[in-house]
Amino acid sequence: MAGAGAKTVVQKCTPVWHPSPNFTERRNGLQPHLVVLHYTAMSSAEAALQRLCDAEAEVSAHYLIGRDGTLWQMVAEMARAWHAGAGEWRGLDDINSRSIGIELDNAGDHPFSEPQVSCLEALLGQILKRWAIPPEAVIGHSDMAPGRKIDPGPRFDWARLARQGLAAHSPIANECPEASEAAGDFQNLYEAAGYSAAASPEELLQALRLRHAPWRQGALCGADIALLRALSASGARRRT
Ligand SMILES: [Zn+2]
Repeated sequence: MAGAGAKTVVQKCTPVWHPSPNFTERRNGLQPHLVVLHYTAMSSAEAALQRLCDAEAEVSAHYLIGRDGTLWQMVAEMARAWHAGAGEWRGLDDINSRSIGIELDNAGDHPFSEPQVSCLEALLGQILKRWAIPPEAVIGHSDMAPGRKIDPGPRFDWARLARQGLAAHSPIANECPEASEAAGDFQNLYEAAGYSAAASPEELLQALRLRHAPWRQGALCGADIALLRALSASGARRRT
């Protein structure tokens, strides 16, 4: 007889193999130490699957998760899939050689479904364990390519992943110091927080908010600066 304790739902996450020709070996013997999350910005998983496996499109990812929770694997985790493109995270480029890429079937203008997020959580749990990747190394495409990419977008629930130890928590930094502070140069703070890719102040602010404060609009404010300071402090601690 089952007890009356809290029900733990552990979804099995068995991928359906759907190989893509779009991969190479990871360069310089690199192994995955990042996970990059994306949305497909397409109307259906089938359309995305076709594109991610089309040799002429020259794009791919390791995994695609459908809205109904179906998991497809297109590239072996040992191999270098072509999902990240130009960009940087924490001063490191060639993110494709350093990461596992997961595409979420979402057109970008609607919420992510429960079966899809549950599958993502199960998959992330396996990947982080398999490659000894810390939760802080799960990032969005928008984090490494500010100004060029905005996925997985403002509707993605990073806080939910963080609660399960599958992504970094956003620091609580909602105080709004004097607006005059916003006149400073915050490039160093962005870099210390991980945002090392070349981008304008506006693009960096957009990336920061997409990940940590998607509800905030308008010009850089004291709450953004407080957030950046907290992130850069925790980034500095990680490097020591
Ligand atoms: Zn992407």
